Amino acid sequence: MTYGIIADIHSNLQALEGVLSVLQRRGVEGYLCLGDVVGYGPRPNECCELVRELDAPGVLGNHDEAVLNPGTENWFNAYAAAAVLWTRALLTEENADFLRSLDEQKVIGDLTLVHGALDDPWGYITEPYEATTTFELMSTPVCLVGHSHFAEWYELNANSTRARHVTATGDRTLTLADGVRYIVNPGSVGQPRDRDSRASCAIYDEEARTIEIIRTPYNIKACQQDMLEKGLPPALAYRLMFGA
Ligand code: ZN
Repeated sequence: MTYGIIADIHSNLQALEGVLSVLQRRGVEGYLCLGDVVGYGPRPNECCELVRELDAPGVLGNHDEAVLNPGTENWFNAYAAAAVLWTRALLTEENADFLRSLDEQKVIGDLTLVHGALDDPWGYITEPYEATTTFELMSTPVCLVGHSHFAEWYELNANSTRARHVTATGDRTLTLADGVRYIVNPGSVGQPRDRDSRASCAIYDEEARTIEIIRTPYNIKACQQDMLEKGLPPALAYRLMFGA
């Protein structure tokens, strides 16, 4: 089985359509979604509907959760909170139900899915020491995470206590080795922050035991224009072109 892995779409329809056309062209047989379908961007309903059509096992992101639960936006910075309020007012009941149906963690074969980290679904893994608890808690060889919007992975050998951090700039393929465990972030579809503005996604090939990270250019200007027309904070539109 091959899976297209998507994370942190953030209501960016142009980026989502871009990665889905690549994943479809590559003939993936299923999809997995690591949360934050909404937040920041201008097309929450369209993105929810596209993800629902994929019938992808998925987990809840912190922005998805904030849109569902009034008051939680107070934990966000002003721009993100403004986008949460805007999204909450616009989201259809069906799409809210879809987000509500997502679990915080999920195990699919050799994979564990969580938005942030296994000890805290909204916790960030950006350094090897932050990966430690997730490595302790995971019951599968691979844990897939989103949340940081960086395409990267952490690997931990059976006889080691310190994980190795690998930054996955550009297109990179990780070959999973026996006896090594991995925490893999496919990068963000709709708001990359690793200084590469192209949309990011991944393909997991269960038989070949590879995870390929793929970057895809998309029409950033069209998304920015849409955000500005909808009155979303301009800073959220500008950051897209810097991948920051
Ligand atoms: Zn996110």
